[in-house]
Amino acid sequence: MELREFRAGLDAWLDEHEHELSPEFGPDVAFDQEVEHLSLVKRMTYDAGWMRWGWPERVGGLGGSTLMRAYLGEALASRDLIEPGIYSMTEVLAPTMIEFARPELAAETVPRLLRGDETWCQGFSEPSTGSNLGSLACRARRDGDSWRVTGQKVWTSLAQYAHRCVLLTRTGTPESGSRGITALFVDMDSPGITVRPIRAMHGRDEFCEVFFDDVRVPTDRTLGEVDGGWAVAMDLLPYERSTSLWHRSAYLRQRLGHLLATAPDGALDPADLGEVVQMAFAFHARSRGTQHRMARGERLGAETSVDKVLLATTEQAVFDLAADAVPAALAVGDDADADRWRTGFLYSRAATIYGGSAEIQRDIIARRLLDLGTDR
Ligand SMILES: Cc1cc2nc3c(=O)[nH]c(=O)nc-3n(C[C@H](O)[C@H](O)[C@H](O)COP(=O)(O)OP(=O)(O)OC[C@H]3O[C@@H](n4cnc5c(N)ncnc54)[C@H](O)[C@@H]3O)c2cc1C
Repeated sequence: MELREFRAGLDAWLDEHEHELSPEFGPDVAFDQEVEHLSLVKRMTYDAGWMRWGWPERVGGLGGSTLMRAYLGEALASRDLIEPGIYSMTEVLAPTMIEFARPELAAETVPRLLRGDETWCQGFSEPSTGSNLGSLACRARRDGDSWRVTGQKVWTSLAQYAHRCVLLTRTGTPESGSRGITALFVDMDSPGITVRPIRAMHGRDEFCEVFFDDVRVPTDRTLGEVDGGWAVAMDLLPYERSTSLWHRSAYLRQRLGHLLATAPDGALDPADLGEVVQMAFAFHARSRGTQHRMARGERLGAETSVDKVLLATTEQAVFDLAADAVPAALAVGDDADADRWRTGFLYSRAATIYGGSAEIQRDIIARRLLDLGTDR
């Protein structure tokens, strides 16, 4: 199918089914409801075919340009049918799984993620290892045809709902750095895993601590090479920093449009508004270029740090504008609109942290793209 045909068909289908896909959330919406609603949206769009376009046929897709799946996320976010943060996880995890898992494993599990039958999580960060990922300590020891995993992860988004985890483990010596890491695909119901949700300041238990106590993982769940997990991480992070954020651009423009429509006359300073609109379009234009590069089959790399910096600065600017222009929108109250602004404002503070902090992205841009100083 061509993109033009896909867009027209999807738009018509969404017009018809929007009422079934619309979340009916009040101000006290629980995170559980948002996760459950996302599964519903994925199931309906998968069963109607839309969620399958842009993914390879060997993992349940229908083939075609990756721009189709980008447009699906954009259309759902523009119509306010998804919570954009949790929608991203598919675009973060599935491409790397397709690249590095045994073909049979990818064929068995990726369709379940696409259809919303399963939720997956990403176990990279640890209590003393976020930016310096190469020093992670969660240990995997070989035991016959299994790995035995012991250690801790933290800030693991959606772990309390997850059926599987893409987990980075230390298989080399503690000093082996990025050369001694192995990536595993772990069933979250394996004996020995304990998940403790963490309440974030925007009121959602989005992420968790995850403890592994001698957890058995079959060796055929290894992603990529033994001790080659760094390549898996370096493949995944560019998606997390760019293409998985495309629909977030639509979400931010939707929020800006809502602000323009609802702000009292004179509340928005035209210069401030112009600045934020310009940032939103710069992010959108950059993100569009990245989507087209992926669609052409180019490998994404360090340059996606530019996308991540633009997203983070734009998202915070949009919510700062709302907070300045309509302080009442963020005031304590019980209407759904105020709750939405408040939650969005607080969550926007995380944009300079998740997927790699803003300082680290600027460091990558300086060293690897601008050739300022040596690459570490
Ligand atoms: C909402 C949210 C969801 C997340 N979801 C996940 C998830 O699903 N899975 C997962 O594995 N992780 C997840 N994370 C964790 C995230 O990847 C880390 O928080 C991030 O990489 C930063 O690591 P850290 O928290 O250990 O901070 P640190 O690395 O300790 O950094 C602390 C501060 O020091 C700065 N800093 C550190 N090193 C340098 C340096 N060399 N130069 C300049 N400044 C530096 C950082 O920029 C930051 O400001 C999530 C985080 C958030 C906020």
